Amino acid sequence: MRLERRTLASAQGAAALAAELRALVPAGASVAEPVAAILADVRERGDAAVVELTRRHDTGGAEPKPLRVDFDELEAALAGLDPQVRAGLEVAAQNIGVVAALGVDDEREATLGHGQTVRLREVPVRRAAVYVPGGRAPYPSTVLMGVVTAVAAGVEEVVLCAPPGHDGDVHPAILAAAELAGASEVFRMGGAQAVAALAFGTETVAPVDVIVGPGSLWVQEAKRQVSAAGLVGIDGFAGPSDVLVVLDHGADVRLAALDLRAQAEHGADSLVIAVSPDATALDALSDGLARVDEPGAGALVQTADLDDALALANAFAPEHLELIGPGAEALAPRVRNAGCLFVGSTGATAFGDYVAGSNHTLPTDGAARFASGLSARHFRRRMAEVRIPDAAAATLAPAGVAIARAEGFEIHAQSMEARVPRQGARNPPL
Ligand code: NAD
Repeated sequence: MRLERRTLASAQGAAALAAELRALVPAGASVAEPVAAILADVRERGDAAVVELTRRHDTGGAEPKPLRVDFDELEAALAGLDPQVRAGLEVAAQNIGVVAALGVDDEREATLGHGQTVRLREVPVRRAAVYVPGGRAPYPSTVLMGVVTAVAAGVEEVVLCAPPGHDGDVHPAILAAAELAGASEVFRMGGAQAVAALAFGTETVAPVDVIVGPGSLWVQEAKRQVSAAGLVGIDGFAGPSDVLVVLDHGADVRLAALDLRAQAEHGADSLVIAVSPDATALDALSDGLARVDEPGAGALVQTADLDDALALANAFAPEHLELIGPGAEALAPRVRNAGCLFVGSTGATAFGDYVAGSNHTLPTDGAARFASGLSARHFRRRMAEVRIPDAAAATLAPAGVAIARAEGFEIHAQSMEARVPRQGARNPPL
């Protein structure tokens, strides 16, 4: 593992160092143009384009199996799943479901001073899709993170798609997890062509309202483009995965080393950072990790104290943040920017990847400054429902009419005035 040494002299330098650390993983070349071409192709030719692109990019030229996976194939995949893996997935699904339900807010209603009521309703989208990457490895855990959350959010139809392999089929562990999690439909398709099919619809795939899930640059760019076009909602743009571990004096360095290595298992573009005021801990990490062959890149950062370590963590806004050592609990409430925060030595990120119940689809690339991990909220929208009784119309209208006329909107003003009950008078005819 390639880890550079850095020193943060004071908290003032946190933002600059955070940017420098991000640059340790170079951004991938833009695929905006070829993705736009794939989207246009699928929009025009539907299923035929999806199948052709699947043959080219996923099955190595072999004929893919039909786009839609049959129900009996899903049932067979679940029946054939290793019982221990099934038991693990059941634990994960149950915990993810409990946490996802926390993201479903109650309706709220206010009766305001003028007598009107405004209710904030929450409604799930009708149909949502979960993309599950399949290019390099099967991720049944990602199936659960997306599908269980969408189901808990109240989505009526939860669609899943994943690219088939050279045998023309989606990995059986993904099909089994889809069945376990309660997906309504599963499609054998991946990459930008899958996102296009879900956004535009094809002969076989009905369009969806929201697309979530991780994936390669092709998948992320396609999601970005269909979202920018106003076609669907998305969860965000997933870049390279990262972890930042803050070690207090006395932290268990062996555990920190394992968690940095676990992060590096995600691939060569993983970014791993350890931050500590304890030079001895950083030396031990440096020695130990130089000898392991995981591919990740990253840095070991020495700070003056835990406060500066926290300043760097907040500036870096990691996807995963671990606080290890005696000071962890005291530090936790002061964390502002992290995709998911793991507090204490037993809080390995790996638990969050699978079974803790928190979602593993998280904001990357520093997006944790403004974005949240996948939750029921990504599948639900809010809608104000307004009721204005006569008495409220009478007292609100003068305020509204004054603003409308100041904005030059005379008819807006009349529209409100016409709602004001007038003693013995009738509204003017059209
Ligand atoms: P993927 O399914 O996301 O991407 C493969 C698809 O990309 C293929 O189906 C193909 O259609 C398309 N593609 C590849 N090369 C192409 C080309 N030259 N032209 C056009 N299309 C092309 O699978 P992947 O590649 O393994 O990527 C998965 C990513 O998702 C990894 O970076 C992994 O780390 C990440 N991941 C993240 C999480 C998470 O929750 N954060 C979970 C699982 C996976």
